[in-house]
Amino acid sequence: MANKGKPVIDRERCKGCLLCVRACPTKTLGPETKPNSWGYYPSSVIAPEKCIACGNCYQVCPDVAITVYKL
Ligand code: SF4
Ligand code: SF4
Repeated sequence: MANKGKPVIDRERCKGCLLCVRACPTKTLGPETKPNSWGYYPSSVIAPEKCIACGNCYQVCPDVAITVYKL
């Protein structure tokens, strides 16, 4: 069975570079439409059921804003 994961994004740490969105092979992540308190538009989990816990997103995040839990 394929791995399942649960990504959690700290929207206040996120600078909205969207590297994680580009690195995600399953399109689990996408941009948010509401800015955080710094004025950045953070990424968000748009399709949680698609996460395979590959870890790409947290590895590319320059701001250590993502944690992925294996389910
Ligand atoms: S762990 Fe992999 S599949 Fe899950 S959100 Fe991150 S990049 Fe996408
Ligand atoms: S890579 Fe990190 S800083 Fe960039 S959008 Fe994703 S969570 Fe935010």
